Amino acid sequence: MPPTSTTGFDPVLAAARPTFDEAAVLGIAAGTFGQAAAAARDLGSERDQTFMLLDAASRPLAVMKLSNAAEDPATLDMEALAVLHARRVDPTLPLAVPRRVPGVDGDASDPATFRAAVTRPDGVHHARLYDVLPGRGRSDPMDLSDAALVAWGETTARLGRALRGFFHPSAQRTMLWDVQHAALTRPMVRSIGDPGQRALVERALDRFDEVVTPAWPSLRAQVVHGDLTTDNALVDEAGRITGIVDFGDMSHSALVTELASVLDSLLDDRGPHDLFRTARLVLDGYQRVTPLEPLELRLMGELLAARAAVTIAISSWRAERGLEEAAFAVRYNDKVARTIATLLDMGWDEVARRMGAQVAPRPAERSTLAARRAATMGPALEPLTYDDPLLLASAQGVWMTDADGRRYLDAYNNVPCVGHGHPRVTEAIARQSRQLNTNLRYLHETAIDLAERLIATMPAGSGLDTVFYVNSGSEANDLAWRLATTVTGATGGLCTAHAYHGISAAIAPLSPESWRADEAPATVATWAPDDDAGVSNALQALAARGIRPAAAILDGVLTSDGYPDVTPDRAGTWLADARAAGALWIADEVQGGHGRTGGWMWSFQRLGLVPDIVTIGKPMGNGHPVGAVITRREVAQAFADETVFFSTFGGNPVSAAAAIAVLDVIRDERVMERTAAAGTALRAAIAELATPGGPIVGVRGHGLAIGVEVTDGPTATRIKEGLRDRGVLIGTCGRDGTVLKIRPPLAFTTAEVPVLGDALAATLATLRPAGQLR
Ligand code: PMP
Repeated sequence: MPPTSTTGFDPVLAAARPTFDEAAVLGIAAGTFGQAAAAARDLGSERDQTFMLLDAASRPLAVMKLSNAAEDPATLDMEALAVLHARRVDPTLPLAVPRRVPGVDGDASDPATFRAAVTRPDGVHHARLYDVLPGRGRSDPMDLSDAALVAWGETTARLGRALRGFFHPSAQRTMLWDVQHAALTRPMVRSIGDPGQRALVERALDRFDEVVTPAWPSLRAQVVHGDLTTDNALVDEAGRITGIVDFGDMSHSALVTELASVLDSLLDDRGPHDLFRTARLVLDGYQRVTPLEPLELRLMGELLAARAAVTIAISSWRAERGLEEAAFAVRYNDKVARTIATLLDMGWDEVARRMGAQVAPRPAERSTLAARRAATMGPALEPLTYDDPLLLASAQGVWMTDADGRRYLDAYNNVPCVGHGHPRVTEAIARQSRQLNTNLRYLHETAIDLAERLIATMPAGSGLDTVFYVNSGSEANDLAWRLATTVTGATGGLCTAHAYHGISAAIAPLSPESWRADEAPATVATWAPDDDAGVSNALQALAARGIRPAAAILDGVLTSDGYPDVTPDRAGTWLADARAAGALWIADEVQGGHGRTGGWMWSFQRLGLVPDIVTIGKPMGNGHPVGAVITRREVAQAFADETVFFSTFGGNPVSAAAAIAVLDVIRDERVMERTAAAGTALRAAIAELATPGGPIVGVRGHGLAIGVEVTDGPTATRIKEGLRDRGVLIGTCGRDGTVLKIRPPLAFTTAEVPVLGDALAATLATLRPAGQLR
């Protein structure tokens, strides 16, 4: 049944417009407002009457609005107060501000001084007078340029921001145009004559009930204009808003409903391609001012469809009841019905994606993704981890979630050092990229602050006082190598037997882990981590080839070598031997740095070493690509004598902001203490699972750089796969792949120890004792 009473929603919607004629309007203008005019032209309006007052030459003088008799004057007061509030917040927003009625009592903040009551047989109307704003009204949305669409988005956001702090009791009303109340238009659907349109409206309302209604309470809410359409905005020649009029649809609603009505109006009659292109331009403009929340973007399509549905339902109902001239009332319905059809045809996930929302990949896409990865990235790329590769959708802290919604404890990824998606870091990146991203050819404070912060972490008296910014661990090591060869004039390099230091042409030779042939390049010699004389032997090997050493490079936790235990004494011997041969010492902190060892910020500190060059990467930006080299001034000077250094992205403000946020979190969350405690507890829990004759041979490591030696490579792989089945992610490392690589984000705490411990115990229980594999 169509509603027969008006209970439950705004009564004006079911009331007829006022019926002032031109003479009456001219009389009120002159008599009440002192505004003489020669003519008054009706501008057409749904709930009230709006007239343009003209002089004898038909030039506009002022705009008069005469309210509906069903309108509560408190609502008109809210409109006046809202406009005054918004103008205070954003004085350059082009808002229609009512004129004060001459000669009335009350100060300038009294909203009643902006209206004059006019009593008619049908009730009391209120007259308000406005200055004429520049621009033309009722523009055709299809005429708006791309720049104008972006500007519409910006202005929409500015209006929302200007109203953010405003409230008035009258805003708590049920405006049917506000999609918040879409469900209330259900009974009006029967008034839609065209069965095709009726079906579209029903489907849009069904979807609204299903996904928007439950999410509604968590959407940002405030007082919104509610009807910022081409009918209620004046525009300049380029189509940009020059005037916002008609605050008559204001209500307290979700902020994003403003965009639903703007899009509903601007998308007009665009085909699928131009619809989304246009929507994205408007949303881009909006987000230049106010970034949208993920849920707001996710629901944009549904909100747009609901606004379109509500438009069709209300206008059909009003036309049916003769509340408005039928043709005028339903003039938009065919167009907005086509918008609903386009959205429904596309599917809601795809709509959300095209609106710019992040939509989780569909599990069904896993195999096609693997094939597309192989097709586009080829055979040299490292294979996917796990027989059944993970398709991840999101991650927070130490937990990752796959496309099926399954959660995994991340005990593998060291890059999200302070935890996946840490808000301090994501916010720093987002904020800085909105504000400024440039390069080190210009002064900006962030990279300089970061350099000072990094230098302050270096050991006192080390002279490590100069920072070079790059973009990855590989680049950091590559630059370190260039510095070393430049300073020493030598060409030889030393690294541990199964090290990995990066991908560049200079560093791949220092990365035995990635050599296909088990043979060192001519200029490189490797040393065994279990040998005090390792470096000395490697130097001899180089000397035998007539090669002088430029540098020795060491990952202070020896990840790729399988986390072998190295004592400070042994490391000290290595460093002394290298120095005696004229080599520089490069501490590669890409793995062991940023507090991973718990007791020390840098892993070389645990080994008691003072390097010549320090390289950092991976955890430095918590996933944002950034790297750095820290060295002594004389090393930098020798390099400066030969060349000039500049890396486009190196030290850009966004990367620097990310890296500063990581350092801040390490300090504020006492990450190193937490890491030390978690690491100790985790090693102890794993050690308890090492039974005589069982798969676990030993547990090593410092902080949360943990290696678990197992009997053989295949067993290590089975444990890794078994842990994945139980929701825990780890890796394997070491020359023969016999070491479980446990290297979680440093958000890992003692609370997660039993999760990993239980999963490991359960996995081990499924492995038969060695020798009984069949
Ligand atoms: N050094 C070490 C010790 C590493 O483990 C790695 C990467 N695994 C690198 C350098 C290279 O870092 P990236 O992959 O970021 O270039």
